[in-house]
Amino acid sequence: MGEKHLISGLQLWQWRNAATQAAIATDVSPTEVDWLLQEVAGLDRLALRLESFKNWPQIQMQLPLVELDQLWQRRLNERLPVQYIAKATPWRQFKIAVSNAVLIPRPETECLIDLALAAASNNSGHWADLGTGSGAITIGLANVLPKAIIHAVDYSLEALAIAQANAQNLGFADRIRFYQGSWWEPLAFLKGQFSGMVSNPPYIPTSTLPSLQPEVVNHEPHLALDGGVDGLDCIRHLIEISPSYLQPGGLWLIEMMAGQADTVRELLENQGDYCKIQIHTDLAGIERFAIAYKS
Ligand code: GLN
Repeated sequence: MGEKHLISGLQLWQWRNAATQAAIATDVSPTEVDWLLQEVAGLDRLALRLESFKNWPQIQMQLPLVELDQLWQRRLNERLPVQYIAKATPWRQFKIAVSNAVLIPRPETECLIDLALAAASNNSGHWADLGTGSGAITIGLANVLPKAIIHAVDYSLEALAIAQANAQNLGFADRIRFYQGSWWEPLAFLKGQFSGMVSNPPYIPTSTLPSLQPEVVNHEPHLALDGGVDGLDCIRHLIEISPSYLQPGGLWLIEMMAGQADTVRELLENQGDYCKIQIHTDLAGIERFAIAYKS
């Protein structure tokens, strides 16, 4: 995992105090400092809470302190997401590697996996994760559907490299296939055979992008966010084209934005090839997920 950098506990303790003060002064949650130190310095929560690490002669860090400090200044001044500094985020029971080539997997997206498992009419066979990004959904599916093969597609080669590394490191590589391309396009050879498809597509209306948090709009890939004029470009495409890829009874499951549920339901109904359309809320009570089945 690259070279290790040694630092005294006292130095790191001093850095933590300064970083915490600076966070409070710039409205960044000071808990981020401790989470970052768990990730890059291997400190545990007890050592942080008791400040016992202050007396340790040496602590191994994944990067030099100057570099950590430069990145932390970017957290405060440029609103760089802390997960891009740690190069990882917790998601379900996994530690998912991320870079700024992929969307940081969100807590609400964790629900997609439970919904897929609960709603699957066929939990084996071929499954698709379209727009896999970091590979979080693909890995989540491979974990809960041990008899399925997951086909993960992304347009970005940089994203695919991260997704592939995640699948490998988390032990799922043997049941996941990766493809570069646009939505279903690389999976034409399996038309009509999919047991399910899951996607968290870009769904933010283009004109809404500038009003998102600076962490998101200034640092996360717009390819993963921008859903066109009304935010529904990709969802409309997935509604139109998925029936020819799904087997009868195959599951269609996506994540969407607050306020899109009624339109998505209507689009699914009007398409004509779906049945048992359902909308599900996330943990905040927002209508966030749409489910349908190929008739
Ligand atoms: N599937 C990935 C995730 O849910 C990426 C989604 C996206 O880039 N829109 O995190």
